[in-house]
Amino acid sequence: MNLIPESLLFELSNPGSVGCSLPKSDVPEAILPAALARKDLALPELDELTVVRHFTRLSQKNYSIDSHFYPLGSCTMKYNPRANETAAAFPGWRNAHPLSGDANNQGCLELLCKLQESLAEIGGFDAVSLQPAAGAHGELSGVLMIRDYLQSIGQGKRSVMLIPDSAHGTNPASCAMAGFTTKTIVSGLDGNIDLGVLKSALDDSVAGIMITNPNTLGLFERRIADIAKLVHEAGGLVYGDGANMNALTGVFKPGVSGIDVMHFNLHKTFSTPHGGGGPGAGMIASSSKLAPFLPGPIAAKTGRKYALVMPEKSIGPIKAFYGNFGILVRAYTYVLMQGRDGLKRVAENSVLNANYLRSKLEKVYKLKYPKTCMHEFVAMGDLAPGIHTLDVAKRLIDYGFHPPTIYFPLIVPEALMIEPTETESKRTLDAFADAMLAIAEEARTAPQLLHDAPSTTPVGRLDEVAAARNPVLCYRG
Ligand SMILES: *Cc1c(COP(=O)(O)O)cnc(C)c1O
Repeated sequence: MNLIPESLLFELSNPGSVGCSLPKSDVPEAILPAALARKDLALPELDELTVVRHFTRLSQKNYSIDSHFYPLGSCTMKYNPRANETAAAFPGWRNAHPLSGDANNQGCLELLCKLQESLAEIGGFDAVSLQPAAGAHGELSGVLMIRDYLQSIGQGKRSVMLIPDSAHGTNPASCAMAGFTTKTIVSGLDGNIDLGVLKSALDDSVAGIMITNPNTLGLFERRIADIAKLVHEAGGLVYGDGANMNALTGVFKPGVSGIDVMHFNLHKTFSTPHGGGGPGAGMIASSSKLAPFLPGPIAAKTGRKYALVMPEKSIGPIKAFYGNFGILVRAYTYVLMQGRDGLKRVAENSVLNANYLRSKLEKVYKLKYPKTCMHEFVAMGDLAPGIHTLDVAKRLIDYGFHPPTIYFPLIVPEALMIEPTETESKRTLDAFADAMLAIAEEARTAPQLLHDAPSTTPVGRLDEVAAARNPVLCYRG
């Protein structure tokens, strides 16, 4: 029971209470300039224990992968093994400083080099840059590489990037940032790219195509090699969105299917923390043709020494120093722990778990593409008249589950995009399926329960648009 409601932290202020103790000053005291010493801040004065309890209680209000199942489709919210954290906390990694020079950072550079090699091998690519800080950042790097490559061969006038209508919103956004215009490729009836539609979009204005494989419907693009061939013959390049790589590791190398440049989300596939928009890592890999354009510097080995080098025609640095180094240590730890066989099992189990859940739910939740899926599937939440996906998602919170991704991909109405990930047990999947089926039953027998959800949280159904546009983040509001 909460004896002290957390919202009252400020009201609890007890003038004179102090939450920290400072050592005796051994420098002369100085008066802060009046402009800095604001008297109107009215900060609460509290003892340490009250503050600790306040923040601990707040942290417990969070959903996280360490506390709950988190089937957020396409985001791959899988377990981040604690061994990653142990490795990242080794003093040699933790205390390294990027400005202390290559000679003093040989261990760090060796790790970067080996991670680059591992990821190139896993993806079937020739070269890797670890600089980008997120998937979208990798996308931007990749389309800038395509732009510079086309300019270098006198094809700089190609300005159109083709994007399937199932793509993640970051794809067109990255293209726009790199100065491309985008053209939507309408998916075929099977949820995959229709070769006829693709052919009719190809002309000499096309710079390339961005393909997500498996796509956001959880479907493998079987014609990927034909697609790449058509685009290449038309003078364009193929960008691969590798966000869903946990369905493929150790089983399929995208690089061999004709993809020229692709990002991996290390915070999805390689078990590094997501964390509110960062610190992530969205490394980018390419064929030898585009390798000179990779963002840099990247780590390289010459003789017995490791050094940072700038690829010859690099698009330049896209992040300070090496990228998010601590995250890269975690990803390399994960790669080593899994090994070749483990990475294959990752893909197999991510697909097995998704199909297990799909088969448990599909009799009650409609599927627009009712067939074997890869790591995720997209169901629909319009269970009964007046019941929408949003109601199902909110009711799941009452059952103790984080809702799946909803209303995406855009081509499935009332979409519920479910990705169980390979790290969940059968017991958890069964519990989630039971909750989903119970909610479907409620939708028919007690729909108000869904409309009123969530009812177990400190606040009920929020106006999400207003909350995002006008967040009230400070105490006084
Ligand atoms: C997550 C995701 C992205 C963007 O990655 P971020 O790391 O969130 O920037 C791009 N495409 C797909 C398909 C994704 O799932």
